[in-house]
Amino acid sequence: MNVFSIDLEDWFHLLDTDAAPSFCDWSELESRVEGNARALLTELDHHCVRATFFVLGWVAERYPQLVCEIAERGHEIASHGYAHELVYEIGRDAFREDLKRSKDAIESAANISPKGYRAPGFSITWKTPWAFDVLAEEGFEYDSSVFPSLRAHGGMSGADPLPSRLANGIDEYPISTVNLAGSRLGYLGGGYLRLMPRIALLHLARSQVRRSEPLILYIHPRDIDLAQPRIDLGALRSLRTYVGLRGCMGKVRALLESFEWGRFEDLRIASSGAGR
Ligand SMILES: [Zn+2]
Repeated sequence: MNVFSIDLEDWFHLLDTDAAPSFCDWSELESRVEGNARALLTELDHHCVRATFFVLGWVAERYPQLVCEIAERGHEIASHGYAHELVYEIGRDAFREDLKRSKDAIESAANISPKGYRAPGFSITWKTPWAFDVLAEEGFEYDSSVFPSLRAHGGMSGADPLPSRLANGIDEYPISTVNLAGSRLGYLGGGYLRLMPRIALLHLARSQVRRSEPLILYIHPRDIDLAQPRIDLGALRSLRTYVGLRGCMGKVRALLESFEWGRFEDLRIASSGAGR
């Protein structure tokens, strides 16, 4: 069982750059999240795949009908926080408030209480060990915020790369990485997926499946959106943000065709059945 997950946010929800629009300006901007999400929903339907959507609370407030439609089409609704802030920057108390606000927004939109969480920018790190306790205290059962490699922001290099149960009962599902000459490297999501040649992507995923490790994939609606407005982010960040948009949907299709995918809730049922 592998998990296909989508972080439901818009093209302007970029982190760790002063060039990105601020929270106060978000509601004035053109939104492209509905159209891009529907393109992904159509593709998932075509392959009879149900996925987990980590919904940003801000998006749930503005597009409740989209969140309801995602749930009605059989996908799992989880939380991506409310205001898309880096956990290690806002601290414990603000993290708890953001988490509560995201739960409220999702419950108001779709009458669903999310059990899973993914931090914006994989920003649960070695500096925020308290985050897992806050998740448990707020009623979450699992997390998929750990990115067990070095990253420009976020990431937990050296963390266990495989799913595990933490001491406080939270189940952690790290994003898939590969071991390359002793270092772990992301490949199955976002800019890594857009940058990686399709043949290498499929080879790495097949290798992971052969090792009986579940694939944990993530993607954003903007990763498939060639027509999104471009923000002047400087050369390197622009490359990371906009590289490979044209070929991304083709890679998503190839992955959907090549592997068995489901939701985190399916993986959790399968794992408990296997005596995990
Ligand atoms: Zn995000």
